Amino acid sequence: MAKEVFMATPVVDQELCIGCGSCVEVCPEVFELRDDKAWVIGYDKCSTCNCEEAASICPVEAIKME
Ligand code: SF4
Repeated sequence: MAKEVFMATPVVDQELCIGCGSCVEVCPEVFELRDDKAWVIGYDKCSTCNCEEAASICPVEAIKME
């Protein structure tokens, strides 16, 4: 029987984001800065930490895993 893998999806709260770029530095495949706000451009490209590192490094806790 195949094991199901739960992949949480990162979501950026645009109201909280201050555009520091830390999440983009940690994971440029997943996050991109546009107009000083981070956007999720490819959460399915995360293959290492399931975006937990980016979420934990955000200084304003704008990245939530859903
Ligand atoms: Fe925005 Fe947080 Fe990413 Fe910085 S780390 S750009 S505040 S979402």
